[in-house]
Amino acid sequence: MRTLIVANWKMNMKRDEAEAFTERLLSLLSEGAGAATAPEIAIAPPYTALATLASALSGSSIALAAQDVSVHSSGAFTGEVAADMLADIGCRYGLVGHSERRQLWSESNEDVSRKAKALLRAGVTPIVCIGETREEREKGQTAEIVLEQLQASLPPAGTPGRDTLVVAYEPVWAIGTGLTATPDQAQEVHTLIRDCLREEFGRAAEQIRIQYGGSVNPENVKSIMAQNNIDGVLVGGASLDAAQFSKILQYDSQENVPQ
Ligand code: PEP
Repeated sequence: MRTLIVANWKMNMKRDEAEAFTERLLSLLSEGAGAATAPEIAIAPPYTALATLASALSGSSIALAAQDVSVHSSGAFTGEVAADMLADIGCRYGLVGHSERRQLWSESNEDVSRKAKALLRAGVTPIVCIGETREEREKGQTAEIVLEQLQASLPPAGTPGRDTLVVAYEPVWAIGTGLTATPDQAQEVHTLIRDCLREEFGRAAEQIRIQYGGSVNPENVKSIMAQNNIDGVLVGGASLDAAQFSKILQYDSQENVPQ
């Protein structure tokens, strides 16, 4: 399966910054040695930069992603953006259930499931984010929490295209903290997620990409990506700098990246 690397810019980047970033990234990638395995790439800018990125990325193979979506399809929902609006602007992917949304906006698994369904109906692939807090890990509840979140956050059974989704395992304690799960810690959880997906989707589960997210940077990406059942990364902080992000994207061809 083709690996998937996604930049999550969160609430950063005005339009001119997004344009300058893209120009620099495309130039760095064109100078690159050419990776042995080229990942699929997507960038999730804030809503206000989606149109700018859509035109800056046109002609490139980098896809556009959204950071969130409304559960509603249209109407009196001030401040919300519908899935078909995201499709209309060219989004191929949409994040749902990022831990910041779950924690700061109290999003429930049910909300996440509805959002994933809304995206699928609009032809946008959901990236369903799950992950345990530090406290839950310390209490030995990681497996229980992650699998419960996963099962309850999947789009409802019968939703067309359900098995095309992407899962992002992002331990909350590793997001934006500089702490990263060790490759072994990550792989352990990814294997549990794959087993759970097998129960849910049967053979189609082998093709579902499971990303890791949490303080990924050019130094640790290669060892993370080397693990079984880790099929890509979701990158926050390090995706705001074109040079850093391009090193992450070219992790496979860089002998100069310290391990
Ligand atoms: C994220 O927000 O999805 C993320 C992984 O952030 P960071 O890489 O900064 O930890």
